Amino acid sequence: MSGGRISAVLVALATVLATRSVAHAQLTERPQPVLRRVPIQTPPQAVVSSRLIYMRRCPAGIGCVIRPGNEDSRADTSSIPNSQVTLTGFKQSDEIWQQVMTCMRATYAPFNIGITDVDPGNVPHFENIVGGRGSELSSDLANAGGVAPFTCDEIPNAITFTFDVYGPDADALCWTAAQETAHAFGLEHEYNAADPLTYLQGGPSMKRFQATDSPCGEFTETTCSCTGQATQNTYKHIVDMFGPGAPTAPTVSIQSPSSGKEVQPTFIVRINAMDDVAIDRIELWIDGVNTGLTAKMPPYRIAAPADVAQGPHTIEVKAFDVQGTPATATTDVTVGPPCTASNGCSGGDVCVIGVCVPGPDTPGGLGSFCTGNTECLSNNCIGDDMGNKACVESCELGNDSSCPEEFSCIAAGAGGVCWQTGGGGCCDAGRGHPAGPALLSLGVLLVVSRRGSRRRRRP
Ligand SMILES: [Zn+2]
Repeated sequence: MSGGRISAVLVALATVLATRSVAHAQLTERPQPVLRRVPIQTPPQAVVSSRLIYMRRCPAGIGCVIRPGNEDSRADTSSIPNSQVTLTGFKQSDEIWQQVMTCMRATYAPFNIGITDVDPGNVPHFENIVGGRGSELSSDLANAGGVAPFTCDEIPNAITFTFDVYGPDADALCWTAAQETAHAFGLEHEYNAADPLTYLQGGPSMKRFQATDSPCGEFTETTCSCTGQATQNTYKHIVDMFGPGAPTAPTVSIQSPSSGKEVQPTFIVRINAMDDVAIDRIELWIDGVNTGLTAKMPPYRIAAPADVAQGPHTIEVKAFDVQGTPATATTDVTVGPPCTASNGCSGGDVCVIGVCVPGPDTPGGLGSFCTGNTECLSNNCIGDDMGNKACVESCELGNDSSCPEEFSCIAAGAGGVCWQTGGGGCCDAGRGHPAGPALLSLGVLLVVSRRGSRRRRRP
């Protein structure tokens, strides 16, 4: 095969930590995993060459011997060293090793791939050798955190390396091992701090393959050289190669309404849901019937239909992860008549367009102070040009009775929001709200923080 002969070497960019950092110290730059382009090993496979990753802990005092040659985990040969080398043994404790193994298994759990630290012998397998330093493997890898051969495609029986340069940091070792093994599956560096393919600091210490289309690149966003597209999707790439692993259901709960609550037509159901890969959607079912209403992005909120009859009902939310695995949560409510601006809500709730919602005395409730959307139960934090910010709910412009007493429905963006304007001053003190009508008559309210559709978030 002559077509794919590429020999770019991606150079290590960081230095090895000389000492462990102390609290509050600026972290030294992380030794980065690197990759090496090598000739394409075999024609693309219809099926993967193996479903096994052997995590090979180089034994203390003995190390791991690697001979130069084609990528072959069964023969301990690799194209990366120029001559026979010995990587020194992994110096961290058994406890750290077990943490690395647990992390690697969790990282690859969404896929039909096994992770073992028992030598599988003379059968096809991917191998990640853990130990030593880059300089022991090749003089140009002195500052590397790991290295992998790379062709943009699967490299059968690839040997990849994770160097023992992170101290007892199991998450950092796992991040590197996950990145290097994934390079051998054809994935390149990704500009997404939650993904093991990242070079970025500052993301979660535990990385997971993200089911999102993310730009490639180390420290800037770049086009992906393998896909030829702007993005790659590591989860999709690996699941397309290996298929899904044993399903793990999402976790889901209903934040509100609480069980036994009296609610109004079009009441809002707020849902908390998490998944090890990603939530695909959440469906709202009432009395065992799918309403067809869904939420796809957090924070998950679904407004119930207007035609739910008054009386008791069972509310069920069904969360599905990207593999289609469901999880459900239920709550029982009683639907009552619509509330009015002055009547029909209990506790700290207030009435917005006939529906009781948490009011100013509830953290994140309507009219409470906020600095960003995520602090609001409505996911909508708005400020005026005097810097006053509050959580708002949508209302019907021109209909002040669609907002609670002491609030007015004022223009903001394309529609209206309930803004606290009345109350005579007694109760607003300390909440930092504008005096109201004078300000509003200026018409200067600005929508300051709409959710950015391009913002990446971790599932
Ligand atoms: Zn890399």
